[in-house]
Amino acid sequence: PSALARFAERFGGAKSKPTIVHAVDSVDLTVRKGEVLGLVGESGCGKSTLGRIIAGIMPPSSGEVLWRGRRLSELSPRERRAAKLRIQMIFQNPFASLNPRASVAEIVGEAPRIHHLIEGDEGAYVDEQLRRAGLDPSFKSRFPHQFSGGQRQRIGIARALAVQPEFLVCDEAVAALDVSIQAQILNLFMDLREQLDLTYLFISHDLGVVEHLSDRVAIMYLGRIVEEATVEEIFSRPNHPYTQALLEEIPRIETQKRAYTALKGELPSPLAPPPGCPFHPRCPNAFDRCKMEKPALRDVAADHRSACHLNDR
Ligand code: SF4
Ligand code: MG
Repeated sequence: PSALARFAERFGGAKSKPTIVHAVDSVDLTVRKGEVLGLVGESGCGKSTLGRIIAGIMPPSSGEVLWRGRRLSELSPRERRAAKLRIQMIFQNPFASLNPRASVAEIVGEAPRIHHLIEGDEGAYVDEQLRRAGLDPSFKSRFPHQFSGGQRQRIGIARALAVQPEFLVCDEAVAALDVSIQAQILNLFMDLREQLDLTYLFISHDLGVVEHLSDRVAIMYLGRIVEEATVEEIFSRPNHPYTQALLEEIPRIETQKRAYTALKGELPSPLAPPPGCPFHPRCPNAFDRCKMEKPALRDVAADHRSACHLNDR
């Protein structure tokens, strides 16, 4: 089945005749060279699907992904292979994507060897990638199960760096890690950004995680971008009620407990998204128009877009 059909099955679509669900719908998103764009929303909102489409792993059923201003679908096979190497994905569970029978040296060295990216000695090349990812190269003959979760994520990062990427799509890359390890890995991402001029799409369900590393933030709800702005704007002047609710959910040390849990109710099934504004069943500000008409993403300030009818009132 197609990726979208698999997505439908995961959300309870009929197994014999998969329903095509637009996990991502009417999204227009630009990641600018050198920036960190945080993509935030609850699990099941379509962030991973969008990340895979942007990374070129999953083709969109309609629409286009442009890489440096050119459509991915119009590149020659050779150009597309080159673009795919420049865009690398880092996943939540690196263990699942690390071959358990391959040593770290094999895991990190394989892709650059196949793609002829190594000039000189492969061992030295692998050592350099491991050092960049904060791993001791003397452990490179070991296997993935001999490492901790944080170290495995570093192996995944070393493997991605080994193909000399320009753009990293990180999908919940720290979500499975302890908080102290999360901070180390986030710092590593930021150091690598400086050293290697990387661009990031940083996908997380946790607005608090993206706060300190993003330049801009896009908020996703049921397959759509509902707000997009600089990180300062999102945190100081959130426009969309969903963004406001997500901000309320960030546990703040100074307040000890959450003052008010704004996000009531479950995320509706993407198989049957609510009519009108998809957030209306959970929105404390919903009014009549919200149940009938889907709000468009519009400018509300400089470099700040939001999709909410309240902006017309
Ligand atoms: Fe809430 Fe209406 Fe705005 Fe949707 S359009 S977020 S329901 S106020
Ligand atoms: Mg996901």
